[in-house]
Amino acid sequence: MAEALNSAAIFTELKSLVGADAVLTDAASIRAYDCDGYTPARNGPLAVVLPSNTEQVSAIVKLCAHYGLWFTPRGSGTGLSGGSTPMCGGIVISTTRLNRILHIDVPNRRLIAQAGVVNTYLSRAVKADQLHYAPDPSSQGACTVGGNVAENAGGPHTLKYGVTTNHIVGVTMVMEDGEVVQLGGLAEDPAGYDLVGLVVGSEGTTGLVTEVTIRLTPLPQGIRTMLAIFDSAESAVRTVSSIVAAGVLPAALEMIDTFIIKACEDAFHLGFPDDAEAVLIIEVDGLEAGLQVEVDRVTEIAFSNGAREVRSASTERERALLWKARKQSFGALGRLGLSMVTHDGVIPRTKLPEVLARVKEISGKYNILAGNVFHAGDGNIHPNLMYNEHDPLQLEAVMLAGQEILRLCVEVGGSITGEHGVGVEKIDVMQVQFSPQDIALMEAIKSVFNPTGLCNPGKLFPTAKRCWETEHGTRMVKAAGRGAAV
Ligand SMILES: Cc1cc2nc3c(=O)[nH]c(=O)nc-3n(C[C@H](O)[C@H](O)[C@H](O)COP(=O)(O)OP(=O)(O)OC[C@H]3O[C@@H](n4cnc5c(N)ncnc54)[C@H](O)[C@@H]3O)c2cc1C
Repeated sequence: MAEALNSAAIFTELKSLVGADAVLTDAASIRAYDCDGYTPARNGPLAVVLPSNTEQVSAIVKLCAHYGLWFTPRGSGTGLSGGSTPMCGGIVISTTRLNRILHIDVPNRRLIAQAGVVNTYLSRAVKADQLHYAPDPSSQGACTVGGNVAENAGGPHTLKYGVTTNHIVGVTMVMEDGEVVQLGGLAEDPAGYDLVGLVVGSEGTTGLVTEVTIRLTPLPQGIRTMLAIFDSAESAVRTVSSIVAAGVLPAALEMIDTFIIKACEDAFHLGFPDDAEAVLIIEVDGLEAGLQVEVDRVTEIAFSNGAREVRSASTERERALLWKARKQSFGALGRLGLSMVTHDGVIPRTKLPEVLARVKEISGKYNILAGNVFHAGDGNIHPNLMYNEHDPLQLEAVMLAGQEILRLCVEVGGSITGEHGVGVEKIDVMQVQFSPQDIALMEAIKSVFNPTGLCNPGKLFPTAKRCWETEHGTRMVKAAGRGAAV
């Protein structure tokens, strides 16, 4: 039976495990942990703990198990579905200090890192060896590999290289009772169930990952990056399907619409035509010998679908500028001074014209400003819905519009999330995509790893909402006069 909670005593015990400077309890310090990039859902933790190694994580989690205390794993908090928001209170276990690369094995193309290592540092560590870590979420300058594992993160280059699960071969994980397990390892194809595959994408509900073993990928010999400019968004998305149908597999195929182009131009002055309806960033890579043929083929397809211009980056600097627009577009939107919910549905690529048109209709119906910047090649749409968070009616409209968009994705044969996860944001639309039997099966699996539900409570499953719909409550959507997440 868990002992009655006494915060002061728990803080003292936590400090004895990790040191006083690794336990944050004052209101100002913990305020930054009350949400992630999905800001409609907020709730503060009791304390934030910053362990430096697996042993410390295990000791903290054993303490939580002893007191029956909820804990929420957190990387950098760049998540966009409320996954690391401590919806039920308890403590946040931050991986910020789990930030060391432990082992690099070039001949076997493996790297072992602590879970709090920032994504981009992985590739940087092996660049001189002509290797890299392929999954490159647009947040890669900030997000952690542990967060990527939990969300099965994607990124612009996952069209060709695959998402996180294709690049993780092992994890060290602290279970909800504090026991440490090692799943997978350095070798390919271990026997038995693919438990690493199960942990990847489980949104921190199977345990806290402290170390990851990743598969390194050779850097391509050559890269060509193009910008195709369109007067019609429909022509741009038709080009996406035509390129793939023609047998070309670009490394990346990203679309930016007129709303975001204008925001990026205002912010970065990159020389994008701000009267264009859409641009595609198209990157092909591989052996130098075949690249020009692919560039010519892609250019021809873009023109035959109505592109008004196709530019090629001729220097590394020009290429970096094209990617800057894509990877920092959220920052550009931030300058508008509005809050934003970024949606994340996946649809069959060929449905892009229809779905983008309907997203426009939906945002028009709710009178919401919306812009699209997304992984078009993967059919992974990201409508960004802008609103004033101090206006309850606008918040309500954004929630309803978001639900309609996700239902639409399922209707056309897609999914409610491509890479940002369900978290808190999509907890109720789980039922749109999955049958009660599907959800029960997933919950049964979760309960094998996390039987008491102490690890990352309140996420993923509609039943998990109980912890924040009862006495703990949250500030979520209450501003809009609603009692629950949508
Ligand atoms: C500007 C911007 C661009 C983005 N672009 C992309 C993109 O291109 N592709 C993409 O996939 N995502 C993208 N994202 C979303 C986000 O960056 C990813 O989901 C990322 O993987 C989250 O990593 P994080 O370290 O910030 O994790 P957090 O936000 O801190 O946590 C995310 C989830 O992981 C869990 N978690 C974190 N660490 C661990 C751990 N060690 N063990 C167990 N569970 C853990 C948390 O509990 C939570 O459920 C973007 C976000 C932003 C703000």
